[in-house]
Amino acid sequence: MALITPRACEEMMAYLDQQLHLREGADGKPTWDCDHSLRYTAQWLREQHKAVADNLEMLEELGAYCDCEVLLNIEEWPDPLELARSSQRGQQQAGKEA
Ligand SMILES: [Zn+2]
Repeated sequence: MALITPRACEEMMAYLDQQLHLREGADGKPTWDCDHSLRYTAQWLREQHKAVADNLEMLEELGAYCDCEVLLNIEEWPDPLELARSSQRGQQQAGKEA
């Protein structure tokens, strides 16, 4: 798993914010340009030379299946260092039990 950092995730969201053009629609409700895919997200990941598949997988796990859902649904992005530490702990515990 080559996940982006929470800080990079913030940058990604700022990019999505721009690409989706969040604005007030004709009916006064917020509207934005989302084509119900993760295309801008994937585009940003590719441009930043991040692991596209790994990060999209984590986004879907957190409930973001399209660009606007990344902005709406991702409240806390996991820190890859924390994840690595907790999976190491898991392995050590599994080792002890075995
Ligand atoms: Zn969307």
